[in-house]
Amino acid sequence: MATIALHPSLDNGIAPGTPGFAGGTLSCHCTTDPVTVRIDSNVAHNHACGCSKCWKPKGAAFAVVAVVSKDKVSITANGQKLKVVDASAAIQRHACTGCGVHLIGRIENAGHPFYGLDFVHVELSKDKGWAAPEFAAFVSSAIEAGSLRPDQTAAARARFRELKIEPYDCLAPALMDAIATHTAKSKGVLAG
Ligand SMILES: [Zn+2]
Ligand SMILES: [Zn+2]
Repeated sequence: MATIALHPSLDNGIAPGTPGFAGGTLSCHCTTDPVTVRIDSNVAHNHACGCSKCWKPKGAAFAVVAVVSKDKVSITANGQKLKVVDASAAIQRHACTGCGVHLIGRIENAGHPFYGLDFVHVELSKDKGWAAPEFAAFVSSAIEAGSLRPDQTAAARARFRELKIEPYDCLAPALMDAIATHTAKSKGVLAG
């Protein structure tokens, strides 16, 4: 069985995170006037994602994406090149109009369980120490995204497990619990 190319940050060996890492700078792929984003903290819940909306580098079947508090995120250069990919999506992914890279995915709906968090791709940073990918989300969605054939998902899941990255077909249990808790509180099922 040929090894599936998941994502360069996984296939080439996962760089362990550095405890206490304080952040760094993301840059898009433009060789002139790149968009840069400064992040003043480490990221959390870094993970592979098989959905059709997250940005992934050429040839990768999965994206690698993490979250960070939006008040730690600032656009530091060429922000005028950013454009929201799909304004109707829960996560407003801001892509560079020059190279297509997504710099930040922001949730503008204050009622959303992940409101206050931005989604970012730490592979866009040369800084070392970012929290490593922990799990794989929406693996089956990679079929819908056109990045895996149905007969490749078993091999992809096996490869993730080999890398100690647990594959899921939704988000990881802790995040599914956080969403359900938010929903239960907003419906009054669970006391706030
Ligand atoms: Zn760019
Ligand atoms: Zn995704």
